Amino acid sequence: MADNELEKFAPDYKAIPLRDRYDHFVGGQALAPSSGHYMDVEDPSTGKVITQVACGSKEDVAAAVKNSQEGFRQWIALKPLERGRLLNRLAQLILENVDALTYLESIDTGKPLRVARGDVETCARYYEYFGGAADKILGEVIPATNEHLVYCQREPFGVTGHIIPWNGPITQLGRQTGPALCAGNTVVVKPAEETPLTTFEVARLAIEAGFPEGVVNVVNGPGPEAGQALVDDPNVRRVSFTGSVETGRLVLERAARRIVPSTVELGGKSPFILFADADLDRAAQLACKAFVLNTGQICSAGTRLLVERSIQDQFAEKLSAELAKVDIGPGLENRAIGPVVSGRQLERVMSYIEIGTNEGARLLCGGKRPDSAGQSGHFVEPTLFVDGNKDMRIAREEIFGPVAVMIPFDNESEAVTIANDSEYGLASAVWTGDVGRAHRVADQLEAGQVYINDYQPIGVEAPFGGYKNSGFGREKGLTALHEYTQQKTVIVFKG
Ligand code: NAD
Repeated sequence: MADNELEKFAPDYKAIPLRDRYDHFVGGQALAPSSGHYMDVEDPSTGKVITQVACGSKEDVAAAVKNSQEGFRQWIALKPLERGRLLNRLAQLILENVDALTYLESIDTGKPLRVARGDVETCARYYEYFGGAADKILGEVIPATNEHLVYCQREPFGVTGHIIPWNGPITQLGRQTGPALCAGNTVVVKPAEETPLTTFEVARLAIEAGFPEGVVNVVNGPGPEAGQALVDDPNVRRVSFTGSVETGRLVLERAARRIVPSTVELGGKSPFILFADADLDRAAQLACKAFVLNTGQICSAGTRLLVERSIQDQFAEKLSAELAKVDIGPGLENRAIGPVVSGRQLERVMSYIEIGTNEGARLLCGGKRPDSAGQSGHFVEPTLFVDGNKDMRIAREEIFGPVAVMIPFDNESEAVTIANDSEYGLASAVWTGDVGRAHRVADQLEAGQVYINDYQPIGVEAPFGGYKNSGFGREKGLTALHEYTQQKTVIVFKG
């Protein structure tokens, strides 16, 4: 079944083979880890080890950063137009290798093939989008006095460090490095140790596209060693981190010691607010997608379903019907959802299901590991709790699995109060047929993105980032370029 689906869906999947072993990738070449150690990489759909990857140290990170400094001199010497063309060429090569990258992403993360393919295409889209922007990073002229010309230009930092999580390895790679490279920086990437494969292949494709060596370097390794060494390296001039709040805090503390700017994209507990006058059928479909897609391992997942009390039973029924259609299976079987990423993550999700039950929420759907999906993989059913309240742990803490809790409200102001009663503020949605209310509520929500009668429909082009503990700085869209440039003001005396 899996083989058939793979042949059908990604026929050219062998174009980039799964390697026996992945070294770091520095200066356009494989670099063996100085420790000689490698880490196992597992397929979450089977629980089996599929390859090994270099276990990086401080020394390996220092070598990669040094090489990136050399790469920076070459990269910055190119015209913006040439850098843009190279980014576009990289996007093209990613699309030409979409089958193979889809396969690798699927066996590395457990994502169904169609989800993995969407992620690969999104990565290409980031390089296209920012490729087109490379010669459009404009400055400004300030009218100050008649005797002076005052202008501001945006300049790159130099080497930027990028720490990537496991839930969307290839998309997060494009999302962070697209704007950094566009702005003229060179990048050192530390992928999540669970899911490094496609990052190495994209770095190889950058060389094939014609990037100078050292523009895209990759060092794998455990976060507390390789990740921290990247943040601490004196030659890394800016840091981007996507991951948990806990680790984000550590990264910011280390970056603060060196006074380097950082973007941190952290967790979420996003509210999906549904008023009785909304299109409930469409809302049920999108609510399902909001917390089930990618097996719930999305920072902006809509996991708090705030539903007007008069329609809660009706909506619970509609949503249950949607959840019943979600089939679960190994990534290569290309069903609706795959496993969660690891045994550790599965344990975390199952423990929250127990917590929800113990704290009095009513389990309406799911809650177990599915019998049919293969028990060696890390599978869990989409799980819906109803009769929840805002103080429950399942309504406050990020679970990062396909688990949502429904909480009733009685009026608009109560809905907003519950929605904002969270340490997080990444995404949010308002569902209503009343356009005035939609905007009123959107204005009051403490979140970096608000969707009205939809859920996360736009990726690459729309600025994205957190309020409160969901982080700061903005990715996606042209706004992201401001994160990767520093402004210089030049004041000229004209006489
Ligand atoms: P994590 O914080 O454990 O790890 C993220 C990355 O940080 C990994 O590459 C890891 O190796 C590295 N790391 C770990 N310790 C480090 C340290 N001391 N110094 C430097 N780097 C270190 O998070 P995770 O479990 O991999 O990812 C899940 C979390 O990421 C969730 O909380 C999720 O919400 C968040 N996330 C946020 C976004 C967003 O855009 N806001 C996107 C995806 C994931």
